[in-house]
Amino acid sequence: MFGLFKNRPAAAPEAAASAPAAPAAAPAKPAPLHGLMMDRPLLISDILKHAAANHAGAKIVSVRADGSRVRHTWPQIAARAAKLANALARRGVQQGERIATLAWNEHRHLEIYYGVSCMGAVMHTVNPRLFADQLVFILTDAADTHLFIDPTLLPALEAVADRLPPTLKAVVVMGEAGSVPGQGKLIGKVELLSQEALIADEPDSIDWPVFDERCASSLCYTSGTTGEPKGVLYSHRSTVLHALTTLQVDCFATSAADVLLPVVPMFHVNAWGIPYAAGMAGCSLVLPGPRLDPVSLYTLFEEEGVTGSAGVPTIWTALLQWLRANPEKRFTNPPRFTVGGTALPKPINEGFLKEYGVRIMHAWGMTETSPLGAVNVRKAENIDWDEDRWLDYSKKQGRPLFGIELKAVDAEGHEIAHDGVAFGELLVRGNWVAAQYFNRTGDDVFTDDGWFRTGDVVTIDALGVMEIVDRAKDVIKSGGEWISSIELENTIMGHPKVAMAAVIAMHHPKWDERPLLLVVPKPGSNPTEAEILAFYEGRIAKWWTPDAVEFVETLPMTATGKVWKAVLKKQYADRAPTTLAHAQTR
Ligand code: ADP
Repeated sequence: MFGLFKNRPAAAPEAAASAPAAPAAAPAKPAPLHGLMMDRPLLISDILKHAAANHAGAKIVSVRADGSRVRHTWPQIAARAAKLANALARRGVQQGERIATLAWNEHRHLEIYYGVSCMGAVMHTVNPRLFADQLVFILTDAADTHLFIDPTLLPALEAVADRLPPTLKAVVVMGEAGSVPGQGKLIGKVELLSQEALIADEPDSIDWPVFDERCASSLCYTSGTTGEPKGVLYSHRSTVLHALTTLQVDCFATSAADVLLPVVPMFHVNAWGIPYAAGMAGCSLVLPGPRLDPVSLYTLFEEEGVTGSAGVPTIWTALLQWLRANPEKRFTNPPRFTVGGTALPKPINEGFLKEYGVRIMHAWGMTETSPLGAVNVRKAENIDWDEDRWLDYSKKQGRPLFGIELKAVDAEGHEIAHDGVAFGELLVRGNWVAAQYFNRTGDDVFTDDGWFRTGDVVTIDALGVMEIVDRAKDVIKSGGEWISSIELENTIMGHPKVAMAAVIAMHHPKWDERPLLLVVPKPGSNPTEAEILAFYEGRIAKWWTPDAVEFVETLPMTATGKVWKAVLKKQYADRAPTTLAHAQTR
């Protein structure tokens, strides 16, 4: 329905006949009085220079594939980034050229983040969990000339060796010196190099070039769960402003004394900007590699003194369940977490806060918004709410950060009432929001009057705080009215026997669509359908109660760690509702 929304026409110009007589010539406008301040472009190289010059005491801890850890300082990262840029320049890499990465969160990836962008080339992060066809599409669309790859991911690339784009000149393996498999050989027709060998003899300093802050710095494709992946091309200016904003107390609240562990992958939306924000703040970073299981994360939190972390809800859900199963494991100093990507179920938030003293901040964003657009943190109107009232409220996605504007419109394009009840499509604009996709034109998600249509269906309340009801494509349309799959999922996550849940629409002969609930039970528990459905009583409108429950062992996940509803919808396309009274008698 939102796809049909057209912008309201501009007001008609006054008829010429009724125009008043021409006024006397207006006095000439004075020339603008510019401020007398230095005008320096916002460039990522300044972040790196700042961190190296002022924060040599912070540590960059990186976990290798075998679990061992390697340590660097910001000056060492800056030196290695300079060596990399010198090596790429020697290979003829030009400004604006795309350099891809297929890698986990580790120090070489951080060096590529800085080295490639600071030299003026474009760092293109590729998601290792993509399917072969998507991988080939993305590398071809971006016309990458070099691909840096973690050794563990080489088999995925070898599988598409004969379909690599003709632009690709080299695949550079990111392993330890001397341990790079196949060095000097070919992948398809492309030569295979080692990152360590490539940079070994290069100078460890460089005069980073100064250029227009609007130049492209990095590229990330949307995950393509709803069609072809689309490239979002970030600029130096947007990246610096986004990182600067996330440092605020009412966002990541990052200080130089912090130790941040981004669980969010560096291959998706720049790990929420944390690699840049950390350099700006000059704090320590712990890069966990591919091991994101609760034991590995908890060990890093404790042994490295992590103070803050960010990830999707599935990561925190798994960690909480593991902590509860291992009661002797406590946090010496409870870190603070940021969660986003999908809705944060209240029981997870509540469990961490009340049992472990861990505060979770709920944030909203998209690949197209760099990603952070809104955060839910207390403000003047609710600073005195008690913890329980606040926990209830924390399920909302939040209010805009400075630099971002949000509004929600109905099907006719009118702004909805800010009453927390009316809903509409969320539109966003701001200094780090995409204005267009890479290599494409004519996408109608970019409106003529400068907004980006998110596809999220939301309410906005009297405090200006936004809550996602659903993604437009996931909402369940029952008898002409909407049911929020997110609300049903969040509610049932409070059931003691539920480990994970997803709600999708299934076809119903009378109501068009009705909710089907998929439940992954907690290990050792054996819930019944009746017991699960009874939990909804009094917690939601009765007619929202799902019409059937399926118990499953796992749920399919997208490349960005969300339940993959498109797959579930296909899988359960023929699932018929069980004839439950509430569905018939609404
Ligand atoms: P993809 O579109 O490939 O899933 P994105 O990371 O760009 O990748 O996803 C953006 C979408 O994720 C948003 O439009 C929204 O639907 C969802 N999302 C992001 N943050 C939240 C959140 N805190 N709560 C609920 N949904 C969220």
